[in-house]
Amino acid sequence: MCRHLGWLGEPVSVASLVIEPTNGLLVQSYSPRRQKHGLMNADGWGVGFYSPDLPGGTPCRWRSATPMWSDASLASVAPALRSGCVVAAVRSATVGMPIEATAAAPFTDGHWLLSHNGLVDRAVLPPSASAESTNDSALLAALIFDRGLDALGDTIVEVAAVDPNARLNILAGNGSRLLATAWGDTLSALRRSDGVVLASEPYDDDPGWQEIPDRHLVDVTPSRVQLVPLRGSR
Ligand code: GLN
Repeated sequence: MCRHLGWLGEPVSVASLVIEPTNGLLVQSYSPRRQKHGLMNADGWGVGFYSPDLPGGTPCRWRSATPMWSDASLASVAPALRSGCVVAAVRSATVGMPIEATAAAPFTDGHWLLSHNGLVDRAVLPPSASAESTNDSALLAALIFDRGLDALGDTIVEVAAVDPNARLNILAGNGSRLLATAWGDTLSALRRSDGVVLASEPYDDDPGWQEIPDRHLVDVTPSRVQLVPLRGSR
């Protein structure tokens, strides 16, 4: 299982979201506080964001197959990366999955950035020519992109119906919207005066963090945060 984080709000630095918080993704890569499955997240990392310098809402990504804490450049570059929409993740690969940069979230279809925190039986997912890697998360991302993000909740319920053991926490952003599901693992939200954070676990002890109940979808736009229950047989 992995840990992920999304930001939608005023432009802030990637460092302020990932590196500087006392329990940010960097610390979560070796010492997560709420991780239910796996001890640490050393099998890669990724940071994706939207920049006004890039036309057409194309996201930028920086991914690696090595532990975030071992990266020689992230700490010096991250303070200079500023964005109003960020999706970042640290990875703990499921047994049998490839460890390569293309298997690390965020995945993209050219518009959305998407991270999966969990696992799913690859046999229940359709083969995809557009999947970035052969791990379950990349295949699941391809399916979600194919169905469209407006159908995210329906897609998660459908996948869970054919793989009842699946854990399907998704976090996606497109520059002006964040979508996340809690399905089998932890998810928290923090409303700040300058924006909204969605994260697998709180990056600090701010009392404003709210736990998202399991089997719910969170839909964040600049004007609102909406919580939607997801149906599904247990
Ligand atoms: N199933 C995922 C993988 O191996 C595990 C990491 C995660 O939680 N996304 O890619």
